[in-house]
Formats: sequence, structure tokens, C-alpha cells
Amino acid sequence: MRQLFAIFGNPVHHSKSPLMHNLAFKTLGYPGCYNRWLIEEGERLRETFFALRLKGANITVPHKEWALKAADVAEPFAAEVRAVNTLVLREGKLFGYNTDAPGFYRALQKLGRVETALVMGAGGTARALSLYLRKQGIDVEVVNRSAGRLEWFQKEGFISHTWEGFRAGKHDVVINTTSAGLTDDALPMPKNLLDAALAKARFAVDVIYGKETPFLKEAKRLRLPHFDGTEMLLQQGIIAFDHFTDYRYSLDEIEEAMRSFLKLC
Ligand code: NDP
Repeated sequence: MRQLFAIFGNPVHHSKSPLMHNLAFKTLGYPGCYNRWLIEEGERLRETFFALRLKGANITVPHKEWALKAADVAEPFAAEVRAVNTLVLREGKLFGYNTDAPGFYRALQKLGRVETALVMGAGGTARALSLYLRKQGIDVEVVNRSAGRLEWFQKEGFISHTWEGFRAGKHDVVINTTSAGLTDDALPMPKNLLDAALAKARFAVDVIYGKETPFLKEAKRLRLPHFDGTEMLLQQGIIAFDHFTDYRYSLDEIEEAMRSFLKLC
């Protein structure tokens, strides 16, 4: 029987997830169909999931914390970062996962060996990525425009600074998790600080996708190997698909089936 999946968010019309997952279902011969569903109130997530008779769902902005509440069982990492982006129904229970951070890590590993990272930004994405990278043995330092969001990082024992207190050290990778450059031409840090950090780095990564941000242009100018948020989007989708299909395929098989969506964007 065909199984149904969806992405929930607000907005959700721009999401590439239906394309990615439907392509992989078709290529792998899995009887699945994936749609998008606009949800305005996060508290309606669970009832909507059951009303639509879904087998699984992805959850995007701004409902990831509601998705954690909707889950009967959350994997420990998703509970720790208070963000679920994948729900799967098994024997009447909703299982919640965070595939953003492991997806990002899978993408990062393709660049080469990384032992130290500078994370720019201190929002939800920065929290999930920093914690996950640290669990993989990577030393993470955080820099953010303002102090408020850094409190959490200080409590968690990360070295963190505002721009004023930041002096560029040597990091294997510089990661942009801020929304600078998303709808404007802003750099994630003042240019002198950014250039000092990039000059000592081996790689640069942006989580923004769909455009070349001023940050990535700068990394390109300095000839640093880099990738944008499309790779993270793809990798989180691969891991979500693995949960959706109950571990029937290898991640490499799913990647091969899903990667061609990039040519269709
Ligand atoms: P949040 O709103 O939680 O945090 C935004 C962060 O960006 C804050 O640290 C904020 O600093 C900083 N910031 C915003 N504007 C600027 C600016 N002009 N200059 C410097 N810093 C700035 O956002 P999220 O963590 O939820 O999302 C961040 C980005 O990640 C978004 O662009 C989103 O599209 C992307 N994303 C991509 C994914 C993918 O699959 N590729 C998945 C998830 C997110 P301050 O604290 O000072 O306000």
C-alpha cells in the first residue's frame, strides 16, 4: 500500500523536500508519496499528522519545537536541542528525530578532516550544529553579533564571543549559521574579522541555500573549498528518508537516488 508523507511549515510553498523525496521513492521503487502542508498553529501538528494518515513528516520553521512536543518518543539529541524535524509513525507511536545536525555533519565530512570549527551565529541552527559537532569530537568556538543568544553557549561550556571580543584564531572550517545574506547583501561579521578568520581556515560552509551569499563569495575569492546549505538540505533529507523507510536502504543508495534533485532545482 502507498505510504503518505508531508512537510509541515509556515511558509512551506518554497520547500524542495517533496521533489527530493518523491524522486527517491520513484528511483528506489518505494511506494511513497510526499506532499507539502501549510500549518499555521504548531499545536495542531499531531492531529494534522493523524488526520492526513501519514507514515512520516518533515517539520520546518517555525514548528520544530512543536514537533518535539508532538512526538511520543524523541531521540535524545532532538530532545536536547529541543528541535524535531522528522516524525515517523511506528505501531501507533510517533518517533521524533533531528536530522539537520547529522545531515550537516555528513556534508562536512565530504570536505575533509575537520577538528576545529568557528560557528558564526547563535540561533537554533547554531545550537544544534555546535552540540552535534562537539559530540563528534570537533572543537567549536562561537561568535555572534549580540550577547543575548550567547548565554546558552556559555552555560554549555562553549568558548563564545560577540564581535567586540572576537580575535580570529585558527579553525579548519568557518560556518555561517546567521541569516545574514539570506534576503540582503550583509556579511555575517564585519569584513575585517571575517577575512581574518577565513585567512586561517581550510574550508567554508554556509547553511543558507538558493543563492550565493556574500560570505560564500568571499570564501570563493580566497579560494577556500566550500559548500552552501543545499548540501545540508540534501543530507538531512537522506537521513530522514532512512527513518521514513525503516532502514531498508543504505545511506549511499538513498544519496544516489536523491542527489539528482539538485539538477532539477
Ligand atoms: P535564528 O533566527 O534562530 O538565528 C539567527 C542568527 O543570525 C542569530 O544569531 C542572529 O544574531 C544572526 N543574524 C541575523 N541577521 C544577522 C546579520 N545581518 N548579521 C549578523 N548576524 C545576523 O535562525 P535559525 O538558526 O533558525 O536559522 C539560521 C539560518 O539557517 C537561516 O538562514 C535558515 O534559512 C538556515 N537553515 C538552513 C537549513 C538547511 O537545511 N540548509 C536548515 C535550517 C536553517 P543576533 O542574535 O545578534 O540577532
